[in-house]
Formats: sequence, C-alpha cells, structure tokens
Amino acid sequence: MRAENAGRPEPVGPAQDAGRAARTEAPAHGYSLPVVPELPDVTLYVEALERFVGGRELRDLRLRSVFLLRSVKPAPKQANGRRVRGVERLGKRLVLVLGPGPRAGEPDELFLLIHLMIAGRFQWRTSGAPLNRRTDLAAFDFEHGTLVLTEAGTKKRAALHVLASRAELAALARGGLEPLTCSFEEFKERLVGAPHTLKRALTMPDLFSGIGNAYSDEILHRARLSPLQRGRNLSEEELVRLHAALREVLGEWIERLRRETGAGFPVKVTAFRPGMAVHGRFGQPCPVCAAPIQRIVRAENELNYCPRCQTDGRILRDRALSQLLKDDWPERLDELEDE
Ligand SMILES: [Zn+2]
Repeated sequence: MRAENAGRPEPVGPAQDAGRAARTEAPAHGYSLPVVPELPDVTLYVEALERFVGGRELRDLRLRSVFLLRSVKPAPKQANGRRVRGVERLGKRLVLVLGPGPRAGEPDELFLLIHLMIAGRFQWRTSGAPLNRRTDLAAFDFEHGTLVLTEAGTKKRAALHVLASRAELAALARGGLEPLTCSFEEFKERLVGAPHTLKRALTMPDLFSGIGNAYSDEILHRARLSPLQRGRNLSEEELVRLHAALREVLGEWIERLRRETGAGFPVKVTAFRPGMAVHGRFGQPCPVCAAPIQRIVRAENELNYCPRCQTDGRILRDRALSQLLKDDWPERLDELEDE
C-alpha cells in the first residue's frame, strides 16, 4: 500500500501489537451490527418470492403503517386483483411487478417497490394469520398464504412505493453498476473515476448496486486492500483483484444462502453472518492469517478489516476516521445503506 493512501496510520507490529490493541477494546462477548440486507440477501428474497407468489393473484394489499407508503398515486388498492408477473431487485430494494388489474382505467402494470432498510423483513404466513400491531407494516394476501412485511424496533424506516410504469421505477434507480455482471472495464471506469476511498465507493448506490457495509468489508478483505485506499491509486493488478473479489464474495454468498434456504422462505435474513471473514468480527482471528480483526467506529457505523491481510500490519486510527469523514462517510447507518 502507498503511504499517502493509508492516512498515515500508526505503524505497529503485525500480529502481537494488533493483538494487544484488540484485547484492550474487544467486547467480552460477540456482537452483531445492524445492517441492511444487501445483494445476496435480497437475491434470496427475490428467488423466494418468485417461488411463493410468482403468477399468483394478489387479492388484497393491506397497509397497517401510515409511515410505509412513500408514493401518492396510484392508490395501493389498485394492486388488488392483479397477478404477480415478476420479482426484481433494484439496488437493495425489491420490486413486485403486477400485471393488468380487473378494473378499467387503471394502469396495465403496477410496480410495488419495497425497501427493507435495516429491520424490515418478509414473512410467509398462512392465509388469515393475525397481524402484529407493533411490527407488521403490510400484508399481501394471496389465495394460498399471506406475505407479511414486518419491521422490528420503534424506528420505522421500511418504505413502499406504488408506481404506475417502468419509467417511474427507473426514475428511482440510483444507477449503480451491477457487480455480478459488469465488465472489468466498466468496473475500472467507475472506481478510478470516483475520488472516494474504496470503502465508500463500493457502498455508494450510484456507483455500485446492492453493496452495503457488510459485504464491502468482506470484498475488501478478499481483495487484500485497505478500506482507505482509493480507486485512482490502484495498480491494474489490484483493480483486477478487487473486481474478482467483488464477484467471488457476492457469488459465494448467494450460493451459500441458497443452500441454507432450500425451497423454503428465507428466515434468517441478516447481513451479519457467522461465516463472514471480517464483518462483525472485531477482535476475533482473521480466517486467513489469524491476526485479530480491527475496526473503525463512527456513531452507529463500523467497518472491519484485517491489519495483516489489508494494511501491511498497521492499525488504522484517528487519521483513518478523519479520512472517512472527508469522504462523506455517513454518521447514520441508514444514510450509508440508502437504496
Ligand atoms: Zn488476515
């Protein structure tokens, strides 16, 4: 790593000193970070929704929370009586595409755009199952069961847009490249053209689609690159490594989640997972080199990295945080996780 990109972190010995730093700060017990479902988790939801409600008629859309609906027209009731034509992912959001409805004068297609944010989740319940007043935001009633959108906690951040056309849907897209299908040249152009740190660039929805705090930590660890490195300073070899890591990490997690979920409905949807290498593993040994995983904390955000694999053994300290702040690293998690 080049020194100017490292934010001149304090040099320490790779393993022993990092271990000492970690021991003084590590929590006694494991912990998990609040995170928005990212591309692999949302992909699993898309696949499950296709299996469960694809081709089925949405009989009734019941909204239980006044905070959920973020669009004015068309009215949500226009969704009733339409069949699910497809399920799509837009960044970290899900789209239910509905075909023509039974009433004249209504749009041929409707798009239900759902952002789960941090605590929003889907559950599949038997038809007519009672809704929980505090946590259930909406129910999508089908003949064979009810899809329930729930959100734990008091902060209701999940969002639903009802849209009348694909053009309206496209207007809400952030324009990020699809990490699993973009070419190396497209990837390189985006990354090198952005002035941001790699950590920030990977999580910006207008640069890359569907990546948040958790998988960006994992991708940078796989690529053996510092979160504070900048795309324009990467060598061609490092860019190739990062592009490969992006595809490998997301692809491997999708496969892993598919194996765990099977034909059922995803129930353990969280972007912190025990099998992750660095994310949410502060103080625990790196699975590659056994050095204790380190972190940079700001407000409710935290990024994790392995000092031996990623920063030449250096612990990133105060300078690292100021580097991130200059980079518009958000204070609030839902800003980092926007889209
Ligand atoms: Zn390591």
